[in-house]
Amino acid sequence: MLNFSQKTISSKIRCSSVALHSGINVNMTLFPAPNNSGIIFRRVDIESSKNEVKANYKNVTTTNLGTTICNNFGTKISTIEHLMAAIWGCGIDNLIIEIDSSEVPIMDGSSEPFVFLIECAGIKSLDEPRKFIEITKNFRFEDSDKFIEVSPSKQFELDIKIDFNNPHITKNFLNYHSTMHSFKNDICRARTFCFKSEIDQMHQAGLAKGGSLDNAIVIGDEGIINQDSLRYKDEFIKHKTLDLLGDLYLAEYFIIGKFNAFKTGHGINNKFLHQLFANKECWKLV
Ligand SMILES: [Zn+2]
Repeated sequence: MLNFSQKTISSKIRCSSVALHSGINVNMTLFPAPNNSGIIFRRVDIESSKNEVKANYKNVTTTNLGTTICNNFGTKISTIEHLMAAIWGCGIDNLIIEIDSSEVPIMDGSSEPFVFLIECAGIKSLDEPRKFIEITKNFRFEDSDKFIEVSPSKQFELDIKIDFNNPHITKNFLNYHSTMHSFKNDICRARTFCFKSEIDQMHQAGLAKGGSLDNAIVIGDEGIINQDSLRYKDEFIKHKTLDLLGDLYLAEYFIIGKFNAFKTGHGINNKFLHQLFANKECWKLV
């Protein structure tokens, strides 16, 4: 990760799939982007003067069952986290994402189809060094019983723990180290999950209209309802890791530091970034 040049994709590539919450079929095209442009979402169904939203933590407006970003004109893109995780995992700095609706397609509920898409497009180095956020001092953010803390390190490292108090969710701890693990091989296939008991509530709230056993693991009283078995024994914590990595990439830069996180979710992930960046003695851009 360190001393690398910035990267984008080699050519444009498109995909389409249902969106998890709206249930609408969405078309999405990824385009290469020049040095220092970052990750930019562009809504092609909205007039061009108002249709761009930068993938930045300051643009996050909602974190209920997904991360939503919004610009000053009220143009929104939701459920960006699995795509953002794939972009982080593939080491992409600059990308334009054109989309014809307000929600990123859910694909199979994991980041794998997006990693596949990026790899099919090809990854291209740009002639500009990558900037990183280096953690210079320990920082901890707590939100009731949840926390995320980070300390200085030469690599990206994460210890993460979940606590669902559910007999079907075992394997509650994971360590991810950027030199020992690979996002593509170890994390990206983990699918989103929910409890069967939550589905009616989500439908009443007008959410998860596109949700199905093709794009989520559903946990019932007797165990997992999906016919296919888990993709990893610890797929649940791997998915929480994937969500955190996607949300953390809204920092706009790769963060070099050792993270320790407990009971993360889109809300705390975003609050953590706001608080970290407000504490300027804890990090520097290098
Ligand atoms: Zn997720």
